[in-house]
Formats: sequence, C-alpha cells, structure tokens
Amino acid sequence: MGSARWSLQTSHLILIMSFPIWFIVFGFVLGTVLGSLLKVLADRGLSGKSFFGRSCCLDCQKKLLWYDLVPLVSYILLKGRCRYCRKKIGWEYPAVEIISGILIGYLFFLSYSTLPALSDPLKLILFSLELVFKIFFITVLLSLFLTDYKKMLIPDRIILPSIIISAIFIFVINLYKVAYLYIYLQSHPIGKYLLPPYSSYFQDRVLSNIQDLFTHIGAGLGLGTFFLLLILLTKGKGMGGGDVKLGMFMGIALGPINTIIATTLAFFTGAIFSIFLILVKKGSLKSVVPFGPFLVIGSLVALFWGNWILDKYFNLFQ
Ligand SMILES: [Zn+2]
Repeated sequence: MGSARWSLQTSHLILIMSFPIWFIVFGFVLGTVLGSLLKVLADRGLSGKSFFGRSCCLDCQKKLLWYDLVPLVSYILLKGRCRYCRKKIGWEYPAVEIISGILIGYLFFLSYSTLPALSDPLKLILFSLELVFKIFFITVLLSLFLTDYKKMLIPDRIILPSIIISAIFIFVINLYKVAYLYIYLQSHPIGKYLLPPYSSYFQDRVLSNIQDLFTHIGAGLGLGTFFLLLILLTKGKGMGGGDVKLGMFMGIALGPINTIIATTLAFFTGAIFSIFLILVKKGSLKSVVPFGPFLVIGSLVALFWGNWILDKYFNLFQ
C-alpha cells in the first residue's frame, strides 16, 4: 500500500514537472513581443515609413525608451497613456500583443509533444526550424490582417519578402531533413545498408522531400492563379492583387491540403460575415469587405487544426 501511494505521488510530481507550462509561458511572452513588433510592421507598412528606427509617441514625437516598450507591462504601468505627454495610447496595441501572445503560446503548447530530447541536437535544430517558420507565418498573417482590415491594403513591402522567405524556409527544412537522414543512416551500423548502392531507400526519401518542396510551391502558384482568375471573372469585386500575393504566401507555407482547408474556411466565414452585415443593415450587397482578414483566419485555423478537420471530414463518409 505504502509503495503504491508513494508511486502515485511520484507520478503526479512527474506529471506536473513535465507539464509544459514554462514552455507555453515562454511562447506567450515571445508572442507579446512579436505582437508589438508586428503592429509597428503593419503601421509602417501602411504609412510607407522605414521599418527600422526607434518608435516614438505619435503625438509628442518623443523617442520611446525600452521601458516604454515592454509589451503589455508598459501599457498597464502607464495606464494606457504616453509617459511624456499623457495622451492616450490606442487599445489596439495591447489587444494585438495579447492575441499574438495567445496564438504563439498555443503554438508552443501544440508543439511540446514533438519536442525532442536536449541530447539530440540534430533533431532539435529541425524542431526549431519548423517552429520558427510557424512563428514567422503567424506574425506576418497578423500584420496583414491589420493592414487589410484598416486600409484594405496588403503592402508589397510586407508580402513580397514574406513569399520569398517562406519559400526559402520550405527549401531549407527539406534540405535539412535529407542531410539529417544521411548523417543518421551513416552513423548506424545497419543504417548503411539503407544507403546506395545497397538500397534505394535513401533516394526515395530524397525524392519525396523534393516532391514536398514542389507541392508547397505549386500550392502557392495554384491559389494565386485561382484568385487571379476570380478577380478577372468578377472584375475585381472584393478581391485585389494583394489577395493574389497573400494566396501565394499561404500556399507555400501551408502546402496543398491545408491551403484548400484555409481557403474554404475563408469563403465560408466571409460569406457568413457579409450576410450578418446585411442583416444588421450595416452593409448591402454592394458594400466591399476586405477578404484578407478571412484568409488570415482560415490560414490560422488550418495551421492549428488542419489535420483534425481533415480527420473529421473523412470520418463523415465512413
Ligand atoms: Zn507622447
């Protein structure tokens, strides 16, 4: 009895210790920092100002110091006002920081189950690469949500570099997977026999990684072309060139299946929102709603729950 009780308590302790709370908190804090950066990215992307250079108060133009810029904390300590001129700081700043914090914190929570042991640095690098890519994707999406929602604009200065960076990420991740597999197989006594000339296993894996790279690029080109055709057919109502570029970004980052899920969700939520606007008489059939924010929401849902949705969808037909 005594030992059973002891082992129960020990297992509880291990459960608490292994609960990824520190990991999630780190993700949340990182998310709030990125939230304040992406707000600057969105504001400056719209105003045409340089992305670099220190932030200053929009009213008194006073340069802000680091302790004025701590996400959430500064806002709370300063009670939402500028330290120097006491003018109100917009509520959007803490709102964006909280939302970004929650999303990145949630990403860390989901990723924890695949966190490799610290003793496996090669696997840890791959894990970090994929995590950083997802963080980058979420950050860019949120800043484009802001610009499209505010001014119906997806600035080239944000979306074009993002398309290129996401393509580089997909390339590097696939290249790393191949290199990792090669090193792994070579270092194992039996692994050598999965390398040429003994077996085609390694070549097959290389081919499947090349295939993965091309399906992601293909999904980007596919969705971009699809949006372009829609614009030509509808003569540009509710959709613009910015959506074409956003579509390319989504496709490259998400890959074909999640891209289809994200786009379907975007059309659904966009339609429901438009009907809602008409019902509350805030809009009419002619009013234009930017489509970008719905693409962003669809992309985030697909990123977090794409596999789950796919699973449920196919179970419907069994
Ligand atoms: Zn001020």
